[in-house]
Amino acid sequence: MKVGSSYARTDAGRKRRGNEDAYVCRPPLFAIADGMGGAQAGEVASALAAEALTDTPVDGGGERRLVELIREANRRVHERASTDAATSGMGTTITVALVEDDGRVTFGHVGDSRAYLLRQDAFEQLTDDHSLVAELVRRGELSPAEAEVHPQRSVITRALGTDPDIDVDTFSVPAEAGDLFLICSDGLSDMVDEETIASILRAHRGDLAEASRALVQAANRAGGEDNITAVLFEIAEGDQAAGEPDEKTRELATSQDEDTLHPEDHVLPPPPAPSAVDTMVAPVDTIPPPPADAETEEAAAPSEDEEEATFARKALALAVIVALCVLIVVLVVWGLAR
Ligand code: MN
Repeated sequence: MKVGSSYARTDAGRKRRGNEDAYVCRPPLFAIADGMGGAQAGEVASALAAEALTDTPVDGGGERRLVELIREANRRVHERASTDAATSGMGTTITVALVEDDGRVTFGHVGDSRAYLLRQDAFEQLTDDHSLVAELVRRGELSPAEAEVHPQRSVITRALGTDPDIDVDTFSVPAEAGDLFLICSDGLSDMVDEETIASILRAHRGDLAEASRALVQAANRAGGEDNITAVLFEIAEGDQAAGEPDEKTRELATSQDEDTLHPEDHVLPPPPAPSAVDTMVAPVDTIPPPPADAETEEAAAPSEDEEEATFARKALALAVIVALCVLIVVLVVWGLAR
């Protein structure tokens, strides 16, 4: 078994100005980190955690290796939070998947960023959220339906960076060819119900770029209240060629710098990208935007960028007309003066 294609996409959503999600999409390693903390501290936390995962090449090692990696990420975030007052109290979720040579996919996770598997037609959530509502559901004190709309559904009970040591959940799944794995932040799973996510993945199974685009669009249409990140990877027959990056592997980050910030959010605009941030982590400025595809769906709900582009075209046309009028007036006046 090897990683066939993979794709990652992140989007700030419609309410947050900054994007505190970070991801890793380096086959055979995939991860999501959803940062939290005042001002821009959440971005620092998630970027530090993602960077810690990619600092040393990871090839196998199983659950024990993932626990080591996540503990190291925790140590770095905690150390920074303890020494830098501006980031005090910051934290991040982390959900990591590693495709092993023996055909297993090993997961390690802390927080409420989820992993899902679409196998054949069956869609399944693999991770248990470390969140207040998930724990209440597990204890039978809350129904899953109540949890979905609970006002405190985003309160997590475990995060990287808040303590010097961390309890990591791990498990592995024996992979089958054709398996499609999704890891995502709560900006997707809170906004879009599981059945909708499943049907989007079924519809775009052969095109992970399109699948991720449709997932982000669904979350934004549902309100886009949080940053949205989806990392997708598919398992194929055969052995992973060592050291050879998969040509089909692409990644992309989009950030809609929309002025849809709610006044209640009290969020400052994002800072310039810190130089310490790994290029794999939310490379918002360096990655080209997705190819514009003239889909009817898109046309029905133009994005802010498209609206801006339309406005620019209209403004240009108006300027040309005004210039022509001025030219005619000048010629007429000049003609009369002769
Ligand atoms: Mn989030």
